[in-house]
Amino acid sequence: MQGGERYNSIGNWLKNYFGSKTVKLSIEAGFTCPNRDGKVGYGGCAFCSSGGSGELSSTIEEQIELLSNKWPDAVYLAYFQSHTNTYAPVSVLRDKFYSALSDPRISGIAIATRPDCLDEDVLDLLDEINREHFLWVELGLQTIHKETSDMLGIGYDLACYDKAVSELRKRNIRVVSHLILGLPGESREDMFESVRHAVNGGIWGLKLHLLNIVSTARMNEMYHDYIPFESIDEYTDLVVDLLEIIPEDITMHRLTGDVPRSILVAPQWSYKKRTILNEINRKLRERNTFQGKALLNNEE
Ligand code: SF4
Repeated sequence: MQGGERYNSIGNWLKNYFGSKTVKLSIEAGFTCPNRDGKVGYGGCAFCSSGGSGELSSTIEEQIELLSNKWPDAVYLAYFQSHTNTYAPVSVLRDKFYSALSDPRISGIAIATRPDCLDEDVLDLLDEINREHFLWVELGLQTIHKETSDMLGIGYDLACYDKAVSELRKRNIRVVSHLILGLPGESREDMFESVRHAVNGGIWGLKLHLLNIVSTARMNEMYHDYIPFESIDEYTDLVVDLLEIIPEDITMHRLTGDVPRSILVAPQWSYKKRTILNEINRKLRERNTFQGKALLNNEE
């Protein structure tokens, strides 16, 4: 961790790695999702908004134009975020990924996908890209608990996720896992177990999502009055506790949620992203703690 930071934020990690502010450009590459088109299921995971969990994307050109005034020296990564970005014939994937990488302003790519969409030929392509370019692959784990996963209708099991992590790691590909905090029926210990499983699997990065119930997701009908956490205080206490059990070399890509306010149903305070992050930092300082601290204590 650098610059007095108390957790290993991906922003700082990338700045150190590339030597400049690094910005992810969200790419809408036109993929769909097997949990929406019927191959695995219809309607998507219960928490997923109809935009495929990535409403904020526009083209590389438009985004760089907007950002270049603010950060003239920024390094850009193309982030294939919406839907399932390895769900297409490998020739199509090759075209899309190399088309982004052929732009001289793009220094690497990040690919979000499902663990059940990583066939051997896709892994070979990712391996090839990873040898020449900066790459990470994001996988949605969300929870390790079968009952919750079944309720969400995710459509793959923990063994499938574990195998995908292992196949990517075998090829030295950086893996970022997603977990959701505040899922219905899950206790604090359930969330700790999910985090422990994820961080013990050899991942490079982790996203902790605050569960946001959005008007366009199935969950809004299933759990209309459900509020994942009553307050910012309750949520940030949990995040700080979780950071203590996450090894310090794991890059933290997200500590809260991020959905457009126009579709946010609950928790209503979730759009205050800056306040939530400030509160996490304040509590880390106040408790004089940091990412991985509980693991250091265990080693003593
Ligand atoms: S969360 Fe991902 S896997 Fe689930 S429906 Fe949305 S795009 Fe598909």
